[in-house]
Amino acid sequence: MQPIGILGGTFDPIHFGHLRLAEEMAEGLHLSHVRFIPAGFPPHRVQPQARPSQRLEMVKRAIAGNPLFCADEREIAKPAPCYSVETLADLRRELGAQQPLCLLLGADAFLGLNTWHNWREIFALAHIAVAQRPGYPLAEQAMPDELKRELELRWQDDGAALAGLPAGRIVQREIAALAISATRIRRQIKAGESPRYLLPDAVLDYIREQHIYS
Ligand code: ATP
Repeated sequence: MQPIGILGGTFDPIHFGHLRLAEEMAEGLHLSHVRFIPAGFPPHRVQPQARPSQRLEMVKRAIAGNPLFCADEREIAKPAPCYSVETLADLRRELGAQQPLCLLLGADAFLGLNTWHNWREIFALAHIAVAQRPGYPLAEQAMPDELKRELELRWQDDGAALAGLPAGRIVQREIAALAISATRIRRQIKAGESPRYLLPDAVLDYIREQHIYS
């Protein structure tokens, strides 16, 4: 069964780093599709600047026209912080015990995984596919011991093998290294600089229309 990719994020705003991550994982891991799940009130970080509805709209505009991508509104609709493990449990209930699920993470997110709420339960619910991200080396020295142990236990060389199991493996994939972050884009807009070519024009047009980040 083809795995379904899950890409959670604040998407404040969505940019080409996210889109390229989803595209390369979809192709390399033969995902049936990728669900972009914008966080409503992310529990791990300072709260986003754009409103939930604006972040959802930016995601929709960014992925429009790609039949492999869809926006999933389940977290954005919730009034309280929502943990990834709860979202994955929700998806698991909805999609059945056999469906392979694959949580897509950039290296920065993966390196902090052991601080997430009930993080070990995630392995019973989904595979994890990690992509490198400039500035966040995935070297073992940079990794907390408990995460290193899970990585050794669950490491899978062959991405195609994810299709045979619903959850529990970790794969790593080299993707185009794009040193793009939403933080930098927000700063540029605030400073009156152009973030053009770091994110889709349709998203930048919306940011300007709505006067977000300025
Ligand atoms: P911010 O700068 O506001 O923290 P961000 O650019 O890191 O935002 P998020 O929405 O927090 O974006 O990221 C969602 C997911 O996408 C995370 O797993 C993150 O690691 C991954 N990601 C974001 N940008 C990149 C990138 N340039 N390359 C690889 N992965 C990325």
